[in-house]
Amino acid sequence: MLVDIQVLRRDFPTLAQIVNGHPLVYLDNAATTQKPQPVLDALNHYYRDTNANVHRASHALSGQATRAFELAREKVARFIHAPSATEVIWTRGTTEAINLVAFGVGRHFLHAGDEILISTSEHHANIVPWQQVAAATGAILKVIPLNASAGLDLTAAGRLINERTRLLAIGHVSNALGQVNPVAELIAMARAVGAITLVDGAQAVGHFPVDVQALGCDFYAFSGHKMFAPTGIGVLYGKSEWLEKMPPWQSGGEMIKNVTFEHTTFAEPPFKFEAGTPNIAGAIALGAAVDYLQGLDRIALLKHEQALLAQLLDGLAAMDDIRVIGRPQAGAVSFVMNEVHPQDLATLLDMQGIAVRTGHHCAMPLMQALGLKNGTVRASFSFYNTHDDVAALLAGIDKARELL
Ligand code: PLP
Repeated sequence: MLVDIQVLRRDFPTLAQIVNGHPLVYLDNAATTQKPQPVLDALNHYYRDTNANVHRASHALSGQATRAFELAREKVARFIHAPSATEVIWTRGTTEAINLVAFGVGRHFLHAGDEILISTSEHHANIVPWQQVAAATGAILKVIPLNASAGLDLTAAGRLINERTRLLAIGHVSNALGQVNPVAELIAMARAVGAITLVDGAQAVGHFPVDVQALGCDFYAFSGHKMFAPTGIGVLYGKSEWLEKMPPWQSGGEMIKNVTFEHTTFAEPPFKFEAGTPNIAGAIALGAAVDYLQGLDRIALLKHEQALLAQLLDGLAAMDDIRVIGRPQAGAVSFVMNEVHPQDLATLLDMQGIAVRTGHHCAMPLMQALGLKNGTVRASFSFYNTHDDVAALLAGIDKARELL
């Protein structure tokens, strides 16, 4: 192991605490990750030393804030291998990023009878905006079904993708089951029929390197808070050919070139899509999270996460009353215990300081497709989790079983 996880954990102050009388075992990283000290420092530094609005004033502080803000955009562009920082739009998160595309592309470039293709395992953030587009335009929502192991059925996807398919919107990694979707294959299939492609990368960027050019997608959306940055900041990567064509979705200050009472001309992308004062501190802190991640051996971290996953799957497989859902590959493991409501199990785990999530994980259609009326218990990792965390979860489940 090239990285010492115990040393890395010291960067995350939240992890070192006692919860319900036990050392915290934080296994809810798919919901949000903890923040390392450099990210906290970046936030603090911005508000304490350089707080000023961006792109507006000629004074020194505004210049510093603007430079830090735009430097963060460049860092994010490099992080996802975008050709240009002008293709990186700041949003509040993945949800807002997808809504921006649903508005700018869905409502303006899709028509009655066009097909929008999503998958059964999508997060609600990648379902509901497309339903709204379909309702507004007469486009038709189509859904890639699951295969026998709860992954996406590529053969069925091949049948669903046709000359009417105008847009494919697909999750990179399922937040509910931790399965990595074959996004590259799906994008290639969609591009072959001229469809627009969007990837929901919320559960990918915090776990493994992402290259939007290699994927070949038109849009890639993600949230800062799931990759060690603050809440309220996220990213939409969009190919410039699309950003130029798309109309602005919110209007006001910052996104204009010239305004008269008769007519307004808009700024160039990305500013055209960033009306009003942005989340300056959040963007700068996201840049700090990118620096932090780039300073680590991400391949070694991924191997470590894979080892945790294998340990958990082995441990759960040895429990007769536990059923793991699907074939988890990154980040999250969803499971159910015979006859036990997931919420009861999670409450007993919480009493032991173990934080997991239960319910439908904002993926109700997926839970329905899998016949999981009460949802699942989901344990989700980050690289700062340890083999002791996994052991604590497994022991916690044993203890809960005794108490139930
Ligand atoms: N997509 C996926 C796969 C997610 O896991 C999440 C959050 O859990 C979202 C979208 C929505 O992200 P946010 O709430 O940060 O906008």
